[in-house]
Amino acid sequence: MSIDATHDPARRSWVESANTDATDFPVQNLPLGVFARAERPGEWRCGVAIGDMVLDLAVAAEQELLPAFGPQKFRGPLNTFMAQAPSRWRALRHAVSDLLSIGGANAARAQAMADALLVRQDAVTMRVPADIGDYTDFYASVYHATNVGSMFRPDNPLLPNYKWVPIGYHGRASSIVPSGAAVRRPVGQVSPNPNGPPTVGPSARLDYEVEIGAWIGGENALGVPVAISRAPERLFGITLLNDWSARDVQAWEYQPLGPFLAKNFASTVSPWIVTMDALAPFRAPAFARPGEDPAPLPYLHDPLDQAEGGLAISVECWIRSARMRTEGMAPVRLSEGSSRDLYWTFAQMVAHHGSNGCNLRPGDLIGSGTVSGAEKGSRGCLLELCWRGTEPVTLPTGETRSFLADGDEVTLRGRAHANGYRSIGFGECAGVILPAVGQE
Ligand code: MN
Repeated sequence: MSIDATHDPARRSWVESANTDATDFPVQNLPLGVFARAERPGEWRCGVAIGDMVLDLAVAAEQELLPAFGPQKFRGPLNTFMAQAPSRWRALRHAVSDLLSIGGANAARAQAMADALLVRQDAVTMRVPADIGDYTDFYASVYHATNVGSMFRPDNPLLPNYKWVPIGYHGRASSIVPSGAAVRRPVGQVSPNPNGPPTVGPSARLDYEVEIGAWIGGENALGVPVAISRAPERLFGITLLNDWSARDVQAWEYQPLGPFLAKNFASTVSPWIVTMDALAPFRAPAFARPGEDPAPLPYLHDPLDQAEGGLAISVECWIRSARMRTEGMAPVRLSEGSSRDLYWTFAQMVAHHGSNGCNLRPGDLIGSGTVSGAEKGSRGCLLELCWRGTEPVTLPTGETRSFLADGDEVTLRGRAHANGYRSIGFGECAGVILPAVGQE
């Protein structure tokens, strides 16, 4: 990770909306996504978010504004670009920064053809940015693991493996949807009595999980482990991830093999991938393990990763009920957490995932697990925030929530700050809950 001219806080874009303090997408960010113009639905192109606009990389390449990327088509999902070397990812960042920065190489030409190169973000449809071959969800917040564990095992909240193994499970890629897609309340088996018998019906304990998603770049051959020292180059970038969860279904089904239908009915990702290069100024030391905790095993320990493998990203969760929308009320914030509270770095998750020779492929997605911190206001799901339904939250309408109701809109937002650098954001990761099938 290195800081260079693309991170210079003095850089300004000729796209005016990129220069406001409020924007998530100043010229220092340059996240990648895949979009279609309204008049050409289904014609997916790679783009870069800049202010409230999208730079069409396919047009930029056709117009020879990206000379080092001549044959690159920049159409369809990002997998082929993710398969390239990290030096290519960085080269594209530099080329685009030069295109969009005032005084940059090619900026005058780009500005002259702005109408062809730029399209408004509110006039495009975004898709999931890569075809996801495999999705793995970790459990990296020790606060989340301790809170949830203490609800179910008050005497023994953290299982003995937690501080040795980055715990995870294989999730489902087919049901990952982009921000804005509605989420249907699932129907499933639930059992109020832990010994059964269960009933079947719409989940009554539908929850969100505030997570950070990491996209894999490059590929390791099957059977060839990923060394912790090489893991950073396998990280392409970061998005926000909402791992919707049906807690009542989960409680009945999770033993002995872990979550299954409680979590695979939908997961929402934010459409813009903030690259690891963009995040260079926002690196942080890995989680400070208390003295009594074991040191990471050698295959999970790298001095550089310990020094700067963490990320300082704050993640917020906002809610707006159907009634709040009807009454014209703004969403209210439920929580704010930080990725600094993750016990494992993403490099450790990647190194662990590949340690047995499992092949990770371009476009694979890794979830952090619910991002929760030590304070109540940082708890990243309703199960924790409302403590298993015992401490409901009250909305401005007077409605209360322990779990999600039909019509609730949940929006995640993320932001990275560091002294001396331009703050960057992640855009939105939002979804509205639809009633279960047959319940409308
Ligand atoms: Mn999760």
